[in-house]
Amino acid sequence: QRQMLKAYLNKPTVNADGRAVGLYANIGKPEDAQAALEKGAEGIGLFRTEFLFMDRDSLPTEEEQMNAYRQVAALFAGKEVIIRTLDVGGDKEIDYLHMKKEENPFLGHRAIRYCLDNPETYMIQLRALLRAGADHKNIKIMLPLVTGLEEIRAAKAMLEKAKKELAAEGLPFDANAQVGVMIETPAASQIADLLAQEAAFFSIGTNDLTQYTLAVDRGNPDVASLYTHFHPAVLRSIANVIKAAKKAGITVGMCGEAAADPALIPLLLSWGLDEFSVSASAVLATRRTISLWSQQEADDVQAEAMNLSSVKGIQGYLASMIKK
Ligand code: PEP
Ligand code: MG
Repeated sequence: QRQMLKAYLNKPTVNADGRAVGLYANIGKPEDAQAALEKGAEGIGLFRTEFLFMDRDSLPTEEEQMNAYRQVAALFAGKEVIIRTLDVGGDKEIDYLHMKKEENPFLGHRAIRYCLDNPETYMIQLRALLRAGADHKNIKIMLPLVTGLEEIRAAKAMLEKAKKELAAEGLPFDANAQVGVMIETPAASQIADLLAQEAAFFSIGTNDLTQYTLAVDRGNPDVASLYTHFHPAVLRSIANVIKAAKKAGITVGMCGEAAADPALIPLLLSWGLDEFSVSASAVLATRRTISLWSQQEADDVQAEAMNLSSVKGIQGYLASMIKK
């Protein structure tokens, strides 16, 4: 199996018709970037920056953050590096931020909400991201847990302020860094057409999108059997986002675990997902799966699956269609 996958190492990611799609990796630490490159990732589709903030007792400085982001940008020079701004709260606690105990942390003051309300913390990260892109101009900034246009506009306003500051200080930065959003709430999925007015790209976060769409805690073993991206509500949601992105002419990727699921890949190919971002260990297997599907075959399976109405039916059908 491993030997077979090695054949896909220095190959482009194309479907059976030769159509190219992006195949990126998710990372959590700058040190993971090397392994992602060695495993054949064509870019970084999700750099979870929380790690930088965890297991320490004070906020990482602008310099520390810039160095971490720059390290990945340099390794992936000429390729895209999508860095997600701080996704705190929910299950991710950071003591020194003194976040309040909440009744419903996953519905609470987390991610972009926390950051916009704590501009002194967020500005440090935004400045570090802009500066880290100065050399290679390959960093894209991604906002987590967006539910509305206002959040994108507020974050972009802060970025403009950061650019003004950096320019006044004479520090080099990437003035054209793109700003995209994660689509991981039902609200974002439903208004994807509106969000596309302000977002340079989308990345579908199926881990949270599944949790919020189905009202099923992604970490609770007692409801784990209900947590599935094969629910027709999740599938329709994904299809809607990809369609909205296509219509608006922006790129759309997926960085949730679902992007590496061989049973789901034909649907994603049929809908026209531009970029798959998976863990480094899943890059080669995903490249292989993509290579096995022609557009026509993917379209046929997609149509058949979307005609089914139950999770069991859809999951069973898609599992039976996985190409060995
Ligand atoms: C997601 O929600 O799908 C995602 C990729 O982000 P995280 O798993 O870090 O919440
Ligand atoms: Mg998420």
